[in-house]
Amino acid sequence: MEVEKKCISPSCGLTYSVYNDIYRCSCGYLLDIEYSKYPDKSLIDTFYNRRNPGGNIFNESGVWRFRELINFVNIDTEDLDECSKYFVSLDGSEGRLSRPYKMSKVADYAKMPADNLFLQPEGYNPSGSFKDNGMAAAVTHAKLLSIKKLICASTGNTSASAAMYASNEGLTCEVYIPRGEIAPGKLGQAFQFGAQVLQVDGNFDDALAKSLNIAKIEGGYTVNSVNPFRLEGQKTIIFRILEHLNWNPPDWIVYPGGALGNISSCGKALMDLYKWGWIKKIPRVLVVNAEGANTFYELVNGLFENTKLLWNNGKPDIELIERYYENQEKEKRYPKTHATAIQIGKPANIIKALRTIEFTNGIVEQVADEDMMDGMSVVGINGFDCEMASGSVPSGIMKSRQKGLIKKDDIVVGVLTGRQKDPSMIIKYHSDNSNKFAIPPKDS
Ligand SMILES: *Cc1c(COP(=O)(O)O)cnc(C)c1O
Ligand SMILES: [Zn+2]
Repeated sequence: MEVEKKCISPSCGLTYSVYNDIYRCSCGYLLDIEYSKYPDKSLIDTFYNRRNPGGNIFNESGVWRFRELINFVNIDTEDLDECSKYFVSLDGSEGRLSRPYKMSKVADYAKMPADNLFLQPEGYNPSGSFKDNGMAAAVTHAKLLSIKKLICASTGNTSASAAMYASNEGLTCEVYIPRGEIAPGKLGQAFQFGAQVLQVDGNFDDALAKSLNIAKIEGGYTVNSVNPFRLEGQKTIIFRILEHLNWNPPDWIVYPGGALGNISSCGKALMDLYKWGWIKKIPRVLVVNAEGANTFYELVNGLFENTKLLWNNGKPDIELIERYYENQEKEKRYPKTHATAIQIGKPANIIKALRTIEFTNGIVEQVADEDMMDGMSVVGINGFDCEMASGSVPSGIMKSRQKGLIKKDDIVVGVLTGRQKDPSMIIKYHSDNSNKFAIPPKDS
């Protein structure tokens, strides 16, 4: 087999066929997609040339433009007829507009030289978040299996993306959301794209548990980030960053941390490229949690039981994580932040994310809600749009600069994960003169 699924635990390493929707190994760990053939570095020119798409939507797509690097359907990717038979794309729009941009006002705020800081607005995807990169890939896999129903739990953007691709492909879609805890714009999208919304009394962690259970009992293809094909699609976020920097890796890549799928995908992309000999230097990853949903921050930094949670060659201290979750329940410390996209207490990809931290010598920071609002707002006055969870990126960079972890001369790329879908937040922010970037309205 040229491509298979493989358990991420090095001491297990069981493999599975890609022609089923098993996403968890019998040993309990999640799976990776493994390619036995190493893609040739000369593809860099091919990718660049496809930016003149010549009427081909798979060249236009910022996901499928890199199709040789995520060829889990195992086809001849030059053959257009074959591509259109297999690949799912919203007419080439996923990942098409997102690449790194310089934003001088964000740089000022983050105490970075303007030329050293880049931000990549993944909100400029068709459904308004980075999730479309992964969804195009996951729904491609669903199509390979002739699946008719998608299912997911969501803090809002996964359901918007899943519903959009499902309706475009003529599939049904069920989305489990924590009642009252998702931005109105995101909930509206799920309805508008014709999904069946199922409201769960509880938080995202409860909604995920429920949707995974229903998928098991009633069937349905899970498109949450436990799905390794989704993470393959999200690798293209890294490919676009690197392409923009002429494949010279930056010093840092910065993401918000929610279920930690994105950070896991980032690690997988860097591990693949390193293994294939495409990059020599490995950027350090900075993951930013909300203070009110900081499981990863606390565990990685040893704030629980004075023990740092480590990848530990694939043998992390699972019991430490379990005790942390038990303690969360006992103390009724449920995730609480206005950045609902990252209001997650039990990050489903925590083990894969530990591997990313280990491989990239990464760090985990946390920021307050007020800081995320400032971060979101300073992106806005640069003429770009992002939501509060994405605002954790500028504020996390600022905080790490202050602590001296990020150096002034470092090249930093931050991922702005999604577009604003709750305008009431930004109106409220600007109505209060005491906010750092507020421009309050005047009566005229
Ligand atoms: C989903 C999402 C996140 C969190 O990503 P994870 O992969 O769950 O860590 C952050 N920001 C936005 C806007 C999102 O939609
Ligand atoms: Zn295993």
